[in-house]
Amino acid sequence: MADELILDVQGVKKAFDGLEVLKGIGFGLRKGETKVLIGPSGSGKSTLLRCINYLTVPDAGRIYLNGEEVLDANIDSMRARMGFVFQDFNLFSHLTVLDNVRICQVKVNGVDREAATRRAHHELERVGLGDKAAAYPAELSGGQQQRVSIARALAMDPDLLLFDEPTSALDPELTGEVVRVMQQLAAEGMTMVVVTHEMSFARQAADEIIFMEKGHIVEQGTPDAMFTASEHARTRAFLNVIA
Ligand code: ADP
Ligand code: MG
Repeated sequence: MADELILDVQGVKKAFDGLEVLKGIGFGLRKGETKVLIGPSGSGKSTLLRCINYLTVPDAGRIYLNGEEVLDANIDSMRARMGFVFQDFNLFSHLTVLDNVRICQVKVNGVDREAATRRAHHELERVGLGDKAAAYPAELSGGQQQRVSIARALAMDPDLLLFDEPTSALDPELTGEVVRVMQQLAAEGMTMVVVTHEMSFARQAADEIIFMEKGHIVEQGTPDAMFTASEHARTRAFLNVIA
């Protein structure tokens, strides 16, 4: 059903050493939606993304992917359906680009090597790196490495992609090539949660922007509503600084 939630986050809480950094977060994501998560450093954005795929185990709350609760017991299969793109790429430096995009398909999804190879080439083409299959990560720019990491996530045929500040480790001139790939994915109907300070991306690609501060969702709304008519002084102040 078109209006079914792909991701349903309910009441997620997380504390570190007695300090509560997520204070009961809930939001939903429908198929094909892009939500952009913004907020000051330390507001809990990364912790929230990590809780969604149990890289960090929440203290309370529930997370559902396609109606099925994410639990310790099913975390491997759930994680395989959620691609995660990290700030620092997390590529295997001793593997070629092709192997980076192929290996999880084979080892986690059990795809045969030939099909995994075809899929890897397809996804590399999709991010504009069809000619880099034989290269090693160190031979690529940061922007190219991040695009490999996006291709790797796509090759798993995920239900959902999670991006945690995918361009913040990049020099400004390399940010655009990664943002363009993300815009293309959003336009093609990929379901995505994106933590980013790239307000041009938020404006252009987000169905909804969620503003977080100190472990709470302060406000959420369409880009138009958030950029032109935010009701909350904190959101306005944040957007004025950053946009
Ligand atoms: P953001 O991504 O919005 O900058 P984070 O989720 O990284 O925020 O961090 C929120 C708060 O949680 C910060 O105060 C951070 O220091 C703390 N924090 C995050 N991860 C850990 C951890 N593994 N152990 C202790 N504190 C953590
Ligand atoms: Mg973060």
